[in-house]
Amino acid sequence: MNIQDLIRPTIKALKAYSSARDEFQGVTDNMVFLDANENPFENGVNRYPDPHQRHLKTILSEIKGISTKNILLGNGSDEVLDLIFRAFCEPNQDNIVILPPTYGMYEVLANLNAIGIKAVNLDDTFQPKVEAILNAADANSKLLFICSPNNPSGNSFDAKAMETLVSEFKGIVVIDEAYIDFSNEASWISKLDTYPNLIVTQTLSKAYAMAGIRLGICYASAEIITVLNTIKPPYNINELTQKKAIELLNIKNLAKNQIQDILKERSLMISQLESVSFISKIYPSDANFVLVKVDDATKRYNQLIEKGIVIRNRTTQPGCENTLRLTVGTPQENKILIDTLKSI
Ligand SMILES: *Cc1c(COP(=O)(O)O)cnc(C)c1O
Repeated sequence: MNIQDLIRPTIKALKAYSSARDEFQGVTDNMVFLDANENPFENGVNRYPDPHQRHLKTILSEIKGISTKNILLGNGSDEVLDLIFRAFCEPNQDNIVILPPTYGMYEVLANLNAIGIKAVNLDDTFQPKVEAILNAADANSKLLFICSPNNPSGNSFDAKAMETLVSEFKGIVVIDEAYIDFSNEASWISKLDTYPNLIVTQTLSKAYAMAGIRLGICYASAEIITVLNTIKPPYNINELTQKKAIELLNIKNLAKNQIQDILKERSLMISQLESVSFISKIYPSDANFVLVKVDDATKRYNQLIEKGIVIRNRTTQPGCENTLRLTVGTPQENKILIDTLKSI
């Protein structure tokens, strides 16, 4: 597959904005920076941030075992996804394939960019229907979004099915691994060399406990990363975000221990949900949330709201009638949830 053929002609012709800090990179101590019209008085944020986030990428590269050339960072996964749309999808011409029930942002971004949507619902065990997906795709299907572990169902997709999709789909396959750190499945990052059309996205918002700093991560071939770098806003990751991510990622075992705690709480929560009378099904979860089927999702949602507990009602999603999505919280929060569920 020739990736260049998938890139929009407008994008291929683009020249990236060259920032002051792009043009001069030989930074050493005690230099005088009079190139970017900054206010010279130090306060920790008076300088523009590193447009290439070198320090942060080096740390991520070590954690994830992948070269910095294969990493692009975004202002949340949302920006990463938007860049992917803009690189590959021609408005009013191209389309994407999504597998509902799935993360809502793919559809929002498609609509925002005037891109068509081909939706192929997951089967009744929330697994992708490989044949139907490949048949739904046409010559203008540029992106296929695979969310695994899937939001909102929580399960991981069958690895063989995913492998077939990645190798047979004639466009870019984006595997959204927002919840991969809660799963025992291997990340697809290690397959980037095998599949030139593969993009893997992750985020610091979930397992890494940094939803507030907005840091999304995109892993792909150096060829794809170069294209996305051309179109990203020059200083898309602000200084505070870069600093905080570096600080927290450098705390040894912080995320690892929290993930362990959340997984323990998830098991406990599942066992306690089993004794809630109006819950008829608890779906298997590889994520930090659990989808449950209840008698009347909207009624139960409203009852919980009245008690000050906010969960997600997923009843309108395909295959999710009368389901609620429960995020695993602290032991105290989970106890409040379970006690309330048992009392209403
Ligand atoms: C939460 C989530 C994200 C993360 O989005 P950010 O913009 O990085 O916070 C991405 N994909 C899925 C499926 C999610 O559930």
